[in-house]
Amino acid sequence: MKHYRKDTSALVIGAGVAGLSSAIRLANKGIQVKVFEQQATYGGKMGVWEQDAYRFDTGPSLFTMPHYVDELLTIDGKDNVPFDFEELEVICHYFWDDGTTLQATKDLELLKDSFEKNIGEPKENIASFLKDSQTKYQITNHVFLEKSLHKLKTYFSWGTIKSIFRLHRVEVFKTMALQNERRFKQEKTVQFFNRYATYNGSNPYEAPATLNVIPHYEYGFGAFFPTNGIRSIADALYQKALSLGVEFHFNSSIETVEKRGDKYLLNGVFESQIVVCNMDVAAAAKGPLKNLLSGKRKDYEPSSSALIFYWGINREFTSLGLHNIFFSDDYKKEFHSIFSQKQIDNDPTVYVHISSKQKPDDAPKGAENWFVMVNAPYVENQNWDTMVAQARENIVKKLSRSLGIDVAQHIALEHKLTPQLIQKHTGSYKGALYGSSSNNRTAAFLRQPNFSSVHKGLYFCGGSVHPGGGIPLCLLSGKITSDIIAHDFNLF
Ligand SMILES: Cc1cc2nc3c(=O)[nH]c(=O)nc-3n(C[C@H](O)[C@H](O)[C@H](O)COP(=O)(O)OP(=O)(O)OC[C@H]3O[C@@H](n4cnc5c(N)ncnc54)[C@H](O)[C@@H]3O)c2cc1C
Repeated sequence: MKHYRKDTSALVIGAGVAGLSSAIRLANKGIQVKVFEQQATYGGKMGVWEQDAYRFDTGPSLFTMPHYVDELLTIDGKDNVPFDFEELEVICHYFWDDGTTLQATKDLELLKDSFEKNIGEPKENIASFLKDSQTKYQITNHVFLEKSLHKLKTYFSWGTIKSIFRLHRVEVFKTMALQNERRFKQEKTVQFFNRYATYNGSNPYEAPATLNVIPHYEYGFGAFFPTNGIRSIADALYQKALSLGVEFHFNSSIETVEKRGDKYLLNGVFESQIVVCNMDVAAAAKGPLKNLLSGKRKDYEPSSSALIFYWGINREFTSLGLHNIFFSDDYKKEFHSIFSQKQIDNDPTVYVHISSKQKPDDAPKGAENWFVMVNAPYVENQNWDTMVAQARENIVKKLSRSLGIDVAQHIALEHKLTPQLIQKHTGSYKGALYGSSSNNRTAAFLRQPNFSSVHKGLYFCGGSVHPGGGIPLCLLSGKITSDIIAHDFNLF
């Protein structure tokens, strides 16, 4: 029997992309949704910073799986919120200290040719790796990404059973680095594909080879750029939520969640049977949900964090594209520094994202907006002032060496985001970019489920819960959570 319960309401804590995804889906089920956000705006980590005609997306820069956004924007059958994006022909420009370069292209024939010509990696190795990455996606997508791992019925669908029989193909018991060393002839190719571990803040020397699924997101589905910049994803989701009647309360930090019978009371004022927590689960367990979440959620092993400099650069660089990677010389040492010594390595891999390459009005004419990021450890009693100053010096040296120009001379404007600030602004535990670490093979099962098995009506979405961090997975977590709510409260 179908019920349509307009009297049901839901309260969402946090307006990150996962919170927005949940709110849209729940509002589309016809229930009243209120979102509480501690900051003055929506988007969480997907922020924006502007000064002197330079505009920067402060958080995510790589956009994959745009159909998850499109699905939300047309969920009610109305195409009433404009959102445009384009597919990238060149996904990323790679640079090594010895002068080797490589352009990772959407065109796979071109990509294989570049590997063979520039790096000496036989084409067949790239082809078989990408095929394997696709197989891993086909196996894991159904079981690990689109459904709750903590509901028994997930394991009783034909799709899941088929996936379970093929689980050996996802290589849970080998590390990514070891598997890639066996697979490729050239060290640079190993480094190239090991880098994908950083897409969820992992260490390729510890994380399972299952993470070799990640390249399929880029080479199987493509890499994209929203015409109005990454922040326009959050803008569009916010507009869609408003159009569905979602009510937003900004500058509203939720400090307490009390259980009253079958309802929850937020800050002693707002009441509902359904609460969706989009804030980081460890922060929630230490804060508003401290009486409702078990002690083990108070600490998790976080993913890595990042240090980002936003530089207004007063000239153009024709050798650079939208996404650029300047690799470190010793990748293993770099990850050892980050994950074991909890320090930024002295020779860090530097990522430079220049949105003005694709969206020229993000910088003044003849200038560029550089988002310069290095992987950093999560916050743990380090001397950040010293580490940040040292990292800046090393980054400038590395880029100057590689580009053959004193980069420091061209920095007209600077702003920065440290792991401590990421923690402060978004409540992310220890400044982790992607919630809990995926460095061991059981990580997926240990992550906070999308629902509380103790307290009916309490749900979770976002980078620190299943299925994990990054824009596509956060959007999916909003879907999984709202599907479970729909089931629990007969919202069909
Ligand atoms: C520098 C950086 C680079 C990244 N690069 C990429 C990338 O290239 N591609 C990619 O896909 N992903 C990337 N990510 C990861 C991606 O941004 C995140 O996984 C995703 O945006 C997280 O969304 P979320 O909804 O889980 O949480 P958040 O964005 O963290 O949102 C949680 C919200 O909850 C609010 N909140 C917290 N506590 C409270 C409270 N008590 N009351 C009310 N509100 C509260 C916070 O203010 C915040 O707005 C990057 C992240 C960063 C920081």
